[in-house]
Amino acid sequence: MTVQEKALEVIRRLKEEYPATHCTLDYKDAWQLLVSVRLAAQCTDRRVNIVMQDLLEKYPSVETLAAADPSDIEKVVRPCGLGHSKARDISACMKVLRDQYGGRVPEDFNALLKLPGVGRKSANLIMGDVFGKPAIVTDTHCIRLSNRIGLVDNIKEPAKVERALRKIIPPEEGNDFCHRLVDHGRAVCTARNPECQKCCLADLCTYAEDRRGSKT
Ligand code: SF4
Repeated sequence: MTVQEKALEVIRRLKEEYPATHCTLDYKDAWQLLVSVRLAAQCTDRRVNIVMQDLLEKYPSVETLAAADPSDIEKVVRPCGLGHSKARDISACMKVLRDQYGGRVPEDFNALLKLPGVGRKSANLIMGDVFGKPAIVTDTHCIRLSNRIGLVDNIKEPAKVERALRKIIPPEEGNDFCHRLVDHGRAVCTARNPECQKCCLADLCTYAEDRRGSKT
């Protein structure tokens, strides 16, 4: 089986396993997802969703958030950790949206990358989830599972994993595939204790094969 064939089979099985996948960050508008994804660094999506409710109550628009003092934003987002830098980035990002994009999020990967606090992972998430464009979101689950399954070969750097996956994942499948890797990473292929015995990918997976080999 080639790595492309393996990728297609993994996509097929994960679709069966997690038919209704979606981003677990709540949002109604693109700018809200932009803020949420910045808050999500080293924080759980569940906590981000709670903090976002408080933030949106106080600052319901790009304009109100852009006009807010970063120290006031920090008071609200502090429970997500790294409050100072997250508040600073959110403030700067909202100002750019207000001043350069009429309060809207640009539908352009490179323009997204230039926004304060927005890296490739966030830009991919916005392109895929908001604009329905091809996207590969290389978060911690994506990187761990891609390596274990054997879709990439011992690559840990997010941009390199993204590049390698783009070669083998059909563009229209990328966004949901990455969401399903998160689903599977949380449910079965956890960081410390992957439950290979109940995994739908066990017969395809390099990590599981190595485990079986080490027991024979
Ligand atoms: S077989 Fe094990 S290591 Fe491979 S994807 Fe499943 S749980 Fe993860």
